[in-house]
Amino acid sequence: MERPCRTCLFNNTERKQIQKNIEDYINSLSPDEKAGERLYKERLKICFECADCFDGLCRICGCFVQARAAKARSYCPGTDKKW
Ligand code: SF4
Repeated sequence: MERPCRTCLFNNTERKQIQKNIEDYINSLSPDEKAGERLYKERLKICFECADCFDGLCRICGCFVQARAAKARSYCPGTDKKW
């Protein structure tokens, strides 16, 4: 049986709250932890073009790609390590 996408289960209000939580998380990172703006945008561009990105979630690790890309020491968990 196919499993539903986690974010598909939420209504618009819940989705807005999730987005706010992601932004709060990113804003809570210290400057040392946070990826630079250019690197963050490069990573997100790759994620949004990736076949394993669905509705902002990485199907490989289950992370929200915005949150994953925001940490400087983070990496793509795919076998081909896209970033
Ligand atoms: S983290 Fe890697 S595998 Fe996951 S969506 Fe981004 S590019 Fe694709």
